[in-house]
Amino acid sequence: MTTPSAGAHATSANRGLTAYDAVVVGAGFAGIYAMYRLRKEGLKAICYEAGEGVGGTWYWNRYPGAACDFESVEYSYSFDEQLQQEWKWSTRMARQPEIKAYLDHVTDRYDLRRDMRFSTRVTAAHFDDATSLWTVSTDRGDRVTARHVVMATGCLSTPKPIEYPGADSFKGEILRTAFWPKEPVDFAGKRVGVIGTGSSAIQAIPIIAEQARHLTVFQRTPNFSIPAGNGPLTEEQDRLQKQAYADLRRREWDSDVGICAKLAPDTRKALDCTPEEREAEYEKRWAAGGLYFYCSFVDLLVDKEANRTITEFAQRKIRAKVKDPKVAELLVPKDYPFGAKRICADTGYYETFNRDNVTLVDVKSTPIREIVPEGLKVGDQVHELDMLVFATGFDAMTGTLLNIDIVGRGGKRFKDHWGDGPRSLYGIMPSGFPNLYITTGPGSPSVLYNMVLGNEYHVDWIMGCIRHLERHGSTTIEAKPEPEMQWRETVNAIGKMTLFGEASSWYMGDNVPGKPRVILPYLGGFRSYKKICDDEAASGYPNCVVA
Ligand code: NAP
Repeated sequence: MTTPSAGAHATSANRGLTAYDAVVVGAGFAGIYAMYRLRKEGLKAICYEAGEGVGGTWYWNRYPGAACDFESVEYSYSFDEQLQQEWKWSTRMARQPEIKAYLDHVTDRYDLRRDMRFSTRVTAAHFDDATSLWTVSTDRGDRVTARHVVMATGCLSTPKPIEYPGADSFKGEILRTAFWPKEPVDFAGKRVGVIGTGSSAIQAIPIIAEQARHLTVFQRTPNFSIPAGNGPLTEEQDRLQKQAYADLRRREWDSDVGICAKLAPDTRKALDCTPEEREAEYEKRWAAGGLYFYCSFVDLLVDKEANRTITEFAQRKIRAKVKDPKVAELLVPKDYPFGAKRICADTGYYETFNRDNVTLVDVKSTPIREIVPEGLKVGDQVHELDMLVFATGFDAMTGTLLNIDIVGRGGKRFKDHWGDGPRSLYGIMPSGFPNLYITTGPGSPSVLYNMVLGNEYHVDWIMGCIRHLERHGSTTIEAKPEPEMQWRETVNAIGKMTLFGEASSWYMGDNVPGKPRVILPYLGGFRSYKKICDDEAASGYPNCVVA
């Protein structure tokens, strides 16, 4: 398949630039699959990636303990049955090195690397009204044109900056989970501080505690964490899973969360069950490990009373694990509903606070003031440290896109378009930016669905748009402004029907000072979302302008 040659309409501005049918930004799960599909469709595509290799989030986040928090048999590509059958995971929930190795394998298996440029960050994408081409620029001086731009930039790819003064004065070493060094980090004999208690910190803390002389955890808000229950994947389990792969994938595509391998999401309401039935369900899912617990009942995130039952269950579990009641009370979330902040999965997280070499410091009641040469100053007290680890999260879902200078039709600036929060049709197509597509962006189920399958779905949908243009001899497709606005209102209205707004979280943009407070993912569930997007394509893109 070919699109009208990208070089055919060169203007003085883009003449002489290498012309591609598509530029893909990012070589994580989405970017790799986008390159596979574009190549398969006979398109000339290039992928730019800031990291030195493929992996995206799994390239950068190589901190100790980094691992998937649901089954890798699900958190993996579904597009090629042979690939599924040949890859063998060593554990139920693969650790970062294995996920990175898997993505390297996929990249090489389909010979995608030759069209990827690493250590290269896309800095700008400008649309030319005269030629309907994008000019894409990078920090290494590349300038190319493309008919299509696929922003496979990930949801958690722009770490928050260090928000305290004095980092330069620190005599020890500063580390960040989201930019972890490739060389092993030696904590032995060191006094280590970790700021943050989200998913990254919760995975790293037990491992650091085992090695360090002393670990001080600086906690602003406690999180709910479920035991991961990770362990080796036996030959027999692997064989059985592979036998049943087709059925598993069918169930995932037909579910709202895309996680079904061990326990399917329950379809009952918590409040329709007796307390004993609820308790049994919670116990079963807690024991299953990881995110299955989250899917115990369907009303947990829309009904406060239902949520209270799971919140209290999880609170009891935390209290039972921590010996010092004062420390336990600090670790128990009390100010927000279970699940309204991203839940975590851990291996021995709460138990770590029973160790003699671990201290928990509450920095909500007494905030951090600054980093000083000897360590971290909290209130008037200096905590002396040799290493300080920032696990403080990301400018999630919007940060990376807003850092790129994107200019659309008629000079429309993307930063202005998203000035009061993100807007795009189905989370994929922002209006005024023809042929520019976002994978698993805000306004789509995104981080609340299996991210690998969500990315596959979006790439396939985008390929559908490109094929539609080809079939009709058209050049551009872009969202109409009104349906885009309606979609945004739908996303917000559904968000308001849930309990997500009752927590301060990155789902709502709360973690980044000054970021507009809006619900970022679409909370209507993947099934309904998929139907809406499938219908749009099947009926010839009525909510888009095709020209
Ligand atoms: P996060 O969940 O946003 O956690 C950041 C932590 O740092 C929070 O405890 C936050 O406290 C704290 N923090 C932020 N700024 C601070 C400041 N200025 N002073 C003190 N504390 C501060 O980030 P994350 O742990 O990197 O995880 C982000 C997301 O990545 C997760 O929610 C998950 O979706 C994904 N993730 C997944 C996995 C996995 O699948 N296994 C692993 C890691 C990450 P507040 O809550 O008070 O803001």
